[in-house]
Amino acid sequence: MDARLIDILVCPLCKGPLVLDKLASELICKGDKLAYPIRDGIPIMWADQARDLSGSPVAASGVVSLSGTNSVGTSE
Ligand SMILES: [Zn+2]
Repeated sequence: MDARLIDILVCPLCKGPLVLDKLASELICKGDKLAYPIRDGIPIMWADQARDLSGSPVAASGVVSLSGTNSVGTSE
């Protein structure tokens, strides 16, 4: 039931797919780098409640070495 619920959830900002982080009980939007909290099994789909994953000052210095696509951050 939970899995189905999450399956139909999309990011309220970009309408993109969300990735469930079971450990953190968060729904991650990779596009916006936001993590929406899940409280008592209910996803909180409000942008102002979401945790900003891109706010880390470490990532700003070009140290991002995570493998994967880097399609975010540049407009071109
Ligand atoms: Zn999004």
